[in-house]
Amino acid sequence: MTFTHDIVIVGAGGAGLMAALYAREGGADVAVVSKLHPLRSHTGAAQGGIGAALGNEEEDSWLWHTFDTVKGSDYLGDQDAIEQMCRDAPRTIIELEHYGVPFSRNQEGLISQRRFGGHTRNFGEAAVRRACHAADRTGHTILHTLYDQCTQKEVKFYDEFQMLDLVKDEDGAVVGIVAYEILTGEVHTFHSKITCFATGGYGRAFKTTSNAHAGTGDGMAIALRNGFPLEDMEFVQFHPTGLYRLGILITEGARGEGGILRNSEGERFMERYAPTVKDLAPRDMVSQCIYKEIREGRGINGKDHVVLDMTHVGTEVLEHKLPEITEFSRVYLGIDPVKTPIPVAPTCHYAMGGIPTNVDGQVVSGPDRENDVVPGFYAIGETACVSVHGANRLGTNSLLDLVVFGRRAGIAMADEIKRDGTKKRNLPDDAEQTTRDLLESIRSRTEGEKAVSIRTDLQETMMTNVSVFRNDETLSTALSDLKELRQRAKNVVVGDKGTKFNTDLMDAVEIGYMVDYAESIAASAHNRPESRGAHLREDYTDRDDANWLKHTLYWADDGDYRFDYKDVIITRFQPKERKY
Ligand SMILES: Cc1cc2nc3c(=O)[nH]c(=O)nc-3n(C[C@H](O)[C@H](O)[C@H](O)COP(=O)(O)OP(=O)(O)OC[C@H]3O[C@@H](n4cnc5c(N)ncnc54)[C@H](O)[C@@H]3O)c2cc1C
Repeated sequence: MTFTHDIVIVGAGGAGLMAALYAREGGADVAVVSKLHPLRSHTGAAQGGIGAALGNEEEDSWLWHTFDTVKGSDYLGDQDAIEQMCRDAPRTIIELEHYGVPFSRNQEGLISQRRFGGHTRNFGEAAVRRACHAADRTGHTILHTLYDQCTQKEVKFYDEFQMLDLVKDEDGAVVGIVAYEILTGEVHTFHSKITCFATGGYGRAFKTTSNAHAGTGDGMAIALRNGFPLEDMEFVQFHPTGLYRLGILITEGARGEGGILRNSEGERFMERYAPTVKDLAPRDMVSQCIYKEIREGRGINGKDHVVLDMTHVGTEVLEHKLPEITEFSRVYLGIDPVKTPIPVAPTCHYAMGGIPTNVDGQVVSGPDRENDVVPGFYAIGETACVSVHGANRLGTNSLLDLVVFGRRAGIAMADEIKRDGTKKRNLPDDAEQTTRDLLESIRSRTEGEKAVSIRTDLQETMMTNVSVFRNDETLSTALSDLKELRQRAKNVVVGDKGTKFNTDLMDAVEIGYMVDYAESIAASAHNRPESRGAHLREDYTDRDDANWLKHTLYWADDGDYRFDYKDVIITRFQPKERKY
C-alpha cells in the first residue's frame, strides 16, 4: 500500500515528536512512523535533566552554557549551532512547561535546576545549577507530554512500522520511505514531500550499554546505504556510571546532587584529575579516569569497577530527587545506596556522530554546507549530527538538542510546505524492490547463522577494541573482525518464516545495519590519529589541531569506504587546552 503525507517523520522519540508537533502547528499534514509504540522510545529513559541557563538557582547565562558546550566538545562542535542551541534553550523549556511538562520545583516555585558534568559559571570558575529536571524521570515526562500534544493536534501515527529503506528520485531528492508493518508482515511505501529521520542512537553496537534494545542505529545505516555520508562517527560517548556489569544508567544527576566516585583506597580520585569541578568533570574525562584507576590496580577488590558513594547525600535527596536510580540499584544489584556505595563502570551511552545536518535539520550530503543540502531530507536528534556535541557531549545537552532542533526542523518543514506547496515529486516505480529482495533472501535462506550469535560477536569486538581506549592494533583487529562479520551477516537465517509479528526477521535485518555503522565507527576511529574528547588514541595521545580540527565525513558501499572532511565553525572561542 502507498500512504501519502506532506511530511513523514520516522521516529517517535523526543526529536520526532517535537518536530511533528511544530510542523503540525505550522499547518502541515504530518505522519510519524515508529517501530516501537511512541512511549517506548528511548527518550522515555532519560533521567537526569535538560540544560538551559534559566538562572533559577544562581546566576547563569546562555554565553557560559555556549562556552561550556564548546569546551566540552573539545572544540570540535560547530559554534554557530551551539550558540543557537544555548540561546534557544530557556525559551524552549518554558514552551515545554506550557505544553504541560511537570518539571520539579524549587522553594520559590520555579523550575528546579541541579549541577551536571562540565556545566560551569563564568567560563569554568565553578559548577553551576543548569539542569532542569522532573525528579530523575525527565525524559519520561517530556515524551508523554509531547505525545499527548501530538495526538490532540491530530498527528497521524503509524506505530510498529519499521522503516527498511528510503526512496530517492532520479535527481537524488528524497521522496519517501519503505516500511514493514510488524503486525501483518506487509511492505508499504510512504510518499512524502519531506522525510525526516529521528531514529535515535546505536548503543546496541557495544556489549555494555545504557541504551534500549531498539537502539540499533537503523536511520544511520539506511542513510549510508543510500549514498549519504555519516559525520564524526569515531566519537562514541561512554557514560562513567553504568551499574557494574549491567550497564544500566545511574544519572550524572547523582553526582550533581553530591555523589562521589571512589577507588579501592576510598580515595575521591577525581580531585587529582579535575581539581576545580572534581566529580563533575565531563564524561569523556571521567570515563577515562575510571579506567586509569582500574588499570593502575585501584579497582574495587581488584575488579574492573569503582564505586559511586551516595551514603552522605541523605535519604531525602535519594528518595525524592533520585527515586529511579535508587530503585534501580536496589532492584538490579540488591544494593541500597542510602547505606552502601554503588559499583559502577563506564557504559556505552551516546552517539556524537550521525547524519550531517544544518541548524534547520536539513541533511547536508558533503563538505559544502550551502550547496550540498539534500532536497526533501531532514534528520534530527541522536541520529543526526548538527554538530553541537563535537567530540564529547555534555550531560543534559541531548534532550536539549532534541527539543531545540526538533522544534526548528518542525517549523522549517512547515514553512517549506507553505512556500513550495504540497505537490510531491514522483515515486520511482520500483521503490519497494530493494526491501522485498532483502526480506525474501533472508526468509528463503535455509543454511546460515542466527542473528543473535553474530550480534554477540559484534558487540564483543566493539567493546574490546573500539571503546574508551583505542590504538592502531585494537582498531585494525576490529576492522578485520567486522569484515568477517559482514560476510556472516550476509548469511543470516531466521527460524520464524511467518508474516505476523516476525521480530526474528527484523533482528536479521538489523544485524546488517549494525555491521554497517559499527564499521563506520571503527574505520573513522582508525582514520583519526589524534586524541580528542571521547576518542582517545593510546598511540596518538595529543590533540592535533593543526591537522585534525575538522569533521570526518564517511561514505561506504558494502564494506568499501572513503573519507572527506568539513571545517569546524569557530566563532567566539578559539581552541585552548582543556582543563577542569
Ligand atoms: C538511560 C538513558 C538516560 C539518558 N538521560 C539523559 C538525560 O538525562 N539528559 C539528556 O540530555 N540526555 C539523556 N540521554 C540521552 C537522550 O535520552 C537520547 O539521546 C535521546 O532521548 C534520543 O532521542 P531521539 O528522539 O533522537 O531518539 P529515541 O528516543 O531513541 O527514539 C528513536 C525513535 O525512532 C524509532 N525508530 C528507530 N528505528 C526505526 C525504524 N527503522 N523504523 C521506524 N522507527 C524507528 C523508534 O521506534 C523510536 O520511536 C539518556 C539516554 C539514556 C539511554
